[in-house]
Amino acid sequence: MEAILAVADEHYRLKAYQQAAQKYLSAAMLLETHDDLSSKKRLGITYTDIAQSLKRLKRREETADYYRKALAVFTEIDNKKYMARTLNTLAEAERYLGNFETALNHATQSLKIHSQIDDPEGEAKAHMGAAIIYRYIERYQASLAHARSAFVYFSNVNDASGIAKTSNEIGHIYIRLGQFDLARSFFSNTIKLPRSKVQARTLATALRETAVIDLNTGNYEAAARLAEQALAIYKDEKEIEKQSHTTRIIGDIYRAKDNVSSAIGYYRQSLSLAQQVKSDKQKIDALIPLGEALLTSDLPQALLVLSDALALAEKTDSDEYQLRAIALLRKGEKLSGNISRSLDYAEQELELSETIHNQESAKQLAIARAALHSYKLELELEGLRKRTELDRLALEKKNNEIAIARSKQQISELELSKSRYAKFTLSLLLTLCTIAALFIFRRFMLSKQRNKELDYLASHDPLTNCYNRRFLFESLNRVFNSPPVPNNLSFIMLDIDHFKTINDTYGHSAGDRVLQGVAKILLDNVEENAIVARFGGEEFCIVLPNTNLDNATTIAEDIRRDVEGYVLDSITLTCSIGITSTAGNATTVSELIDQADMALFDAKSEGRNKVTVWRDNEQFKGARTAP
Ligand code: GH3
Ligand code: MG
Ligand code: MG
Repeated sequence: MEAILAVADEHYRLKAYQQAAQKYLSAAMLLETHDDLSSKKRLGITYTDIAQSLKRLKRREETADYYRKALAVFTEIDNKKYMARTLNTLAEAERYLGNFETALNHATQSLKIHSQIDDPEGEAKAHMGAAIIYRYIERYQASLAHARSAFVYFSNVNDASGIAKTSNEIGHIYIRLGQFDLARSFFSNTIKLPRSKVQARTLATALRETAVIDLNTGNYEAAARLAEQALAIYKDEKEIEKQSHTTRIIGDIYRAKDNVSSAIGYYRQSLSLAQQVKSDKQKIDALIPLGEALLTSDLPQALLVLSDALALAEKTDSDEYQLRAIALLRKGEKLSGNISRSLDYAEQELELSETIHNQESAKQLAIARAALHSYKLELELEGLRKRTELDRLALEKKNNEIAIARSKQQISELELSKSRYAKFTLSLLLTLCTIAALFIFRRFMLSKQRNKELDYLASHDPLTNCYNRRFLFESLNRVFNSPPVPNNLSFIMLDIDHFKTINDTYGHSAGDRVLQGVAKILLDNVEENAIVARFGGEEFCIVLPNTNLDNATTIAEDIRRDVEGYVLDSITLTCSIGITSTAGNATTVSELIDQADMALFDAKSEGRNKVTVWRDNEQFKGARTAP
């Protein structure tokens, strides 16, 4: 099947359209037996190829049939792009058949689908197709609008072939509008394009049409030159029918230049070319001017030619050609002196004119109807466009809603993460607070510890760890400053005997260790509530709460004995002790201390290593109070 299609394509390329159509048909028959999607698409395309081959063969009905088949296949497989493109070519086929309303329907449908899909090239081609149909139904402005749409697209994509075709179409429309200068400028667009990029037949059309304009405006030299160029192209392209047409135009140019014999030569050439391709239309087109030209030079030949033209016109049922042939025959018969024949033709002419007039009216009516139909379709298309616009707006609204919903979601996500963040921050804050609290607590504990240490240092003697003198005084002051002063508080004062000698004999640091040892003895001998303080140097004091003098004396005696028995690195020592208590007459701290000091003095005086209790006697009192 691939091979068949390849052969078909080759035939088509070589313009062997008959063979191409046959091969495409064989391929289509094979493809029709397949049911898969790609085969169906291939089948649709092959139907299109058949239609195109038939179009070249001018088998108009069959062309339309195969385009319809292609359309059915593309519709079945719902291939919008191919549907739209086929509708456009089918519209052209229907136009050839004179079915303008159907053509318009298809063209409109094609444009409608194109507006919904992304196939700008197909859309431009649909505009082009619509332009031609509108030109046919004489709606030239609408035609121009469509042609311009196509022209703009092809210009934008720099498609020379497209530019050329649309330029030609716009040229055709301006010819219809009688605006020949504009028409010429559009055809010259095509002519100026690089030859390699423009289809030869498109260029030839522009050259030929410009030649006709030049002919009609009296530029015969330019007209002849352009027509010859067009003819050369048609010869290269083996477009015999077009050669016939262009040769006739050249004949017209010579006839306009009053070179009748040359004109006749070209008309004959045109006729023989038309005969080669068996084109009745081209034959009549050549026969009529040939006959007319011969009227002045070879009347019998003219009458023969014109009779042939009339016969062909009757055969092809073309009233217009019949009329032209009859009018010329009337003229020719008259010139030959056959008045009665001339009269006959005159009568036929009248009759035919009326028929043609009626037909013309019918044609005009058909065109008017088609134009009306086109307005209707345009309104529908406009409606569709509005609907599409509404749909687009609805879609936009929906999109906006989606965008809003998305934003909302984002916001809630943000809020969520915000709360997550808040939670995180809170926990972080809590951790930091805890750390800070711990830190502060530690600092507090440390400072408390430090305060404790400071307090200890402030109240203790660093060498012996006993209370210091300051603490001793504070404690005693508290007792004496908050009456009533208890009468069972005893106070001991102790002094190491000959301590200077210990220092001198064993060294100062040995003396220190002796002080520490004595302090320990003191602490060991008292209760928890007692205050053992270093009063200064080698002197200690002990406050014994809830202890009467007898008990205090016992304690003091124990201490004295312990000190006496104490040995440090062979160092031995003794101590002297003075005792007093609040049971006496001391009213201040100083008096209490002085009493103990005096008792101590007595102990020293009485030979040391002794405990002495303070006694209230006149001598002492006097000495104590003396300045
Ligand atoms: P007495 O029996 O009369 O009390 O004789 P004494 O040597 O103990 O008398 P004195 O008061 O003259 O001597 C006390 C000495 O104690 C003088 C001083 O150098 C010494 N001393 C004072 N404080 C310290 C101390 O902290 N460490 C040491 N090692 N010696 C001290
Ligand atoms: Mg002393
Ligand atoms: Mg001493």
